[in-house]
Amino acid sequence: MAVDPTLPYDDTNIFARILRGEIPAKRVYEDDFALAFHDIAPRAPVHILVLPKGSYVSWDDFAARGSEAEIAGFVRAVGHVAREQGLVTPGYRLLANIGSDGGQEVAHLHVHLFGGRPLGPMLAG
Ligand code: AMP
Repeated sequence: MAVDPTLPYDDTNIFARILRGEIPAKRVYEDDFALAFHDIAPRAPVHILVLPKGSYVSWDDFAARGSEAEIAGFVRAVGHVAREQGLVTPGYRLLANIGSDGGQEVAHLHVHLFGGRPLGPMLAG
């Protein structure tokens, strides 16, 4: 079911549970501000999700309530993972699905990092 980003943060969502270590994930990077792990249903040879650790549902929520340190830490973590995965030269794509029209399924803000092949047009159809 699509996420309603106007609802308060619900800490039973699956990424909150991964952040708390309650369920496993193939982790690739973690620091004070962010966690990155492989998507369970990859849509590209590299498909990694990067999450801010704070309780934010959407990008606009994070932009409004996140501290400077959280926002900088998250942005730096995304760049770090892209570099660490060897994606800088071939290139990569970042995507954040927000709310119903964005097709967001998990109500904890995350960025998809895709790479490992030419990724084609930005949107299908
Ligand atoms: P979206 O909220 O639409 O940006 O997409 C959520 C993404 O989370 C999808 O690509 C799912 O395949 C992925 N996903 C859901 N559950 C897990 C999980 N337990 N571990 C890793 N990825 C997951």
